[in-house]
Amino acid sequence: MNSYQKEQAESLAMVQRHLETLSAAERKALELQTSDYLLFRDDVHTFLSEHFSDLCTEKCYRNNLSACCSREGIITFFGDMVVNTLVSINEEINALLATLQKPNTGFKCIYLGNKGCMWRLKPIVCEMFLCDQAQKEVFREKPWAEDAWNELKQRKKLYTWPDRPVLFDDLERYFMDAGYSSPLMYLHNSPGLLRVKQQASFL
Ligand code: SF4
Repeated sequence: MNSYQKEQAESLAMVQRHLETLSAAERKALELQTSDYLLFRDDVHTFLSEHFSDLCTEKCYRNNLSACCSREGIITFFGDMVVNTLVSINEEINALLATLQKPNTGFKCIYLGNKGCMWRLKPIVCEMFLCDQAQKEVFREKPWAEDAWNELKQRKKLYTWPDRPVLFDDLERYFMDAGYSSPLMYLHNSPGLLRVKQQASFL
């Protein structure tokens, strides 16, 4: 297990463990907190299915390239892990934990399984990644789709970019208040993101 996998495994196990200790009411409240974000993710999913799914399946997935998943250590926010754990069944999280124990021998993301990404709700960085070639092909034909995509990218910031109170910051705080910490809590430990907060004066 390399250091990336270790960080991922420790953080994910911590999220799973803590969620198991919550009462039904506490869990429900946390789920409610993420409900607006899940609607946003539905909108992104619908957009991608409508405009990119065929192209990406044809150009990348079917020929086994999976270029978007070729990086060994994809960035995952702590908030990504919390939301995914909330929407997943325990077996799915256990499968992620089991895969993180194995050595990553390829040049692909450790989470890329036989049927694609093993996360039920992919990390936001992955979901919002469109390669230049795909963007060019689709937006050349449908310029209005580019406007819709830019709008979705702006909406993403409302949950992840800490120039205002955002969900991903709140989720980190929720776990910090319960006594946990993780190197994946970028909204509390990345110098760049802390600067964004400072400039927005809400640190
Ligand atoms: S987390 Fe999933 S979508 Fe993201 S790079 Fe890995 S396999 Fe691909």
